[in-house]
Amino acid sequence: MTNLSNRVLNMKESVTLAASARAKALKAQGRDILSLTLGEPDFVTPKNIQDAAIEAIQNGKASFYTVASGLPELKDAINTYMENFYGYSVNRNQVVVATGAKYILYTFFTTVLNPGDEVIIPTPCWVSYVDQVKMVDGVPVTVATTEANDFKATVEQLEAARTDKTKVLLLNSPSNPTGMIYSREELEAIGNWAVEHNVLILADDIYGRLVYNGNEFTPISSISEAIRNQTVVVNGTSKTYAMTGWRVGFAVGNEEIISGMSKVISQTTSNLTAVSQYAAIEALTGPQDSIEDMRQAFEERLNTIYPLLCEVPGFEVIKPQGAFYLFPNVKKAMEMKGYTDVTAFTTAILEEAEVALVTGAGFGAPENVRLSYATDLDTLKEAVRRLKAFMEK
Ligand code: PMP
Ligand code: GLU
Repeated sequence: MTNLSNRVLNMKESVTLAASARAKALKAQGRDILSLTLGEPDFVTPKNIQDAAIEAIQNGKASFYTVASGLPELKDAINTYMENFYGYSVNRNQVVVATGAKYILYTFFTTVLNPGDEVIIPTPCWVSYVDQVKMVDGVPVTVATTEANDFKATVEQLEAARTDKTKVLLLNSPSNPTGMIYSREELEAIGNWAVEHNVLILADDIYGRLVYNGNEFTPISSISEAIRNQTVVVNGTSKTYAMTGWRVGFAVGNEEIISGMSKVISQTTSNLTAVSQYAAIEALTGPQDSIEDMRQAFEERLNTIYPLLCEVPGFEVIKPQGAFYLFPNVKKAMEMKGYTDVTAFTTAILEEAEVALVTGAGFGAPENVRLSYATDLDTLKEAVRRLKAFMEK
């Protein structure tokens, strides 16, 4: 007899957080584990943002609840951000702020899905989407993309997945875990398809400013007014501003949906922690040079580590365009080592090579593993050296 609800019994723990926790536990036991698990910048939050937070605490502003949907000043800062990076303006009723993009996503699903409503999710996809949809009795409909098409879904694939229950298409570009970016033309075709069939687009743009080597990010919501009206943008400060711990996420879109999400927030967390909201205002409107320094550091790591990873026997990797992950196909590597299950293979790498990766299984990709390069170059080089030694043994 269990005390747990069916909902929780049917849920999986986040594999990214679980992999990171396992690596930390082994390290605490004295093992020399190199962890490339979490997608979390290894940089400390920039000083101007820290100072804004300290000031908000010391002048008493951070002591109180805020409006459930977020401080008006923060909504204005998000509007400035939208003007700068998306090329359009929004009003305060089109913006809601919450405890991380992760909770924004959950709030969105709670707000728009009735039981049985379907969400099309191209895979490989970030580990939390599928479980979040299930948690609110929605139905995730995964669409498997191929490496041959750079892990991008086509309109034909989306159309084949569409039914009269389709409510939402989830699009994440640049993608976690693949690092791929949809082009303007691809987005235009997908956006027009969504408008034509009245499918809401949930655009998870959280890696939109982490793009490398001349690649460009186009927000799908910037393509046309019709597509914009159909889209809810999800974004946050975690990745771009090295602020994972502050838990700042936001959504921008249709007033009806935003107001529904605000209602959910008012009955659950009440509001995003006030001090984080003041920090976010400074992040979005203050000096942006440290952001560019971090982006360049990620780019250098990618360009250094990618060719080294290509030399690991049995690892086949497409060079990512954005985010901070490498997502090699390890089918051949598994065959060489006698594995058929990628999670077991990832565990063997952890045990024998002392390198912690995330199994592709959690991303809907049974032939891949994920390495995060949001860590320093020495660690990355040593980790890839160990992977190579493991494969050559
Ligand atoms: N979306 C994607 C694609 C992510 O990789 C993450 C990683 N945490 C999130 C959303 C959530 O970010 P956060 O909750 O830290 O804002
Ligand atoms: N999104 C990051 C990752 O994929 C952080 C962990 C999580 O929230 O999943 O590693």
